[in-house]
Amino acid sequence: MLLAQFQTAVSLIYPPRCLGCGGLVGQDAGLCGPCWRETEFISGTVCEGCGVPLPGESDGFRIECDDCMATPRPWSQGRAALVYGGKARELLLALKHGDRLDIAAPAAAWMARVAEPLLQDSPLVCPVPLHWSRLLKRRYNQSAVLARALAHRAGLQYCPDLLRRHRRTPSLDGRSRAERFRLLGDVIGVPPRKAPALSGRNVLLVDDVMTSGATLSACADACLRAGAEEVRIVVLARVTHA
Ligand SMILES: [Zn+2]
Ligand SMILES: [Zn+2]
Repeated sequence: MLLAQFQTAVSLIYPPRCLGCGGLVGQDAGLCGPCWRETEFISGTVCEGCGVPLPGESDGFRIECDDCMATPRPWSQGRAALVYGGKARELLLALKHGDRLDIAAPAAAWMARVAEPLLQDSPLVCPVPLHWSRLLKRRYNQSAVLARALAHRAGLQYCPDLLRRHRRTPSLDGRSRAERFRLLGDVIGVPPRKAPALSGRNVLLVDDVMTSGATLSACADACLRAGAEEVRIVVLARVTHA
């Protein structure tokens, strides 16, 4: 059977459902109209550091949001597909805690769209790691699920275990920016046996959500310390008012 016929047969048995509400949608639509309208997709002028939407037109020079200017990032470029809130928040929670792994492929397509300039020159795609004890409890790392889907979609090399958390850190929810950065100081590192794979490479770090950027900073610092040439980041959603 041809692939197209097979896909048609599958979609007759399993008609495509909206990721947001489970309602029926057209082929590969991802979200139905109402859910789409409750999801803030980022486009147009964005901060070069974190991908948050900015007003006005880009004049070709690097522009950054107040957050990225106040907290210089160890990575060179960052992008986000969605603004955190509304449906985006529901999708992220479903992916993180609800076993909704079906969200990964459409999310990877949204991330690939915004991260297009960051995918040039074949960066190594790596997820922000979970501590093993959390991985046992949750069974999967949502950032790794996104990173794998993005690497697959963009035809890039995926390295799931480039970074490791040495220690388990308390949840960062509700912590101040200074506390977040302090808690993550030297928690994340590149295992020595992984360093050769990293030497001179560009790295694309993937996470589900960026709040202060403390976790991504710890990961980017670890990559650079271990010999990476340059680090970029892409997240599914950016929190715009922490
Ligand atoms: Zn819907
Ligand atoms: Zn920014």
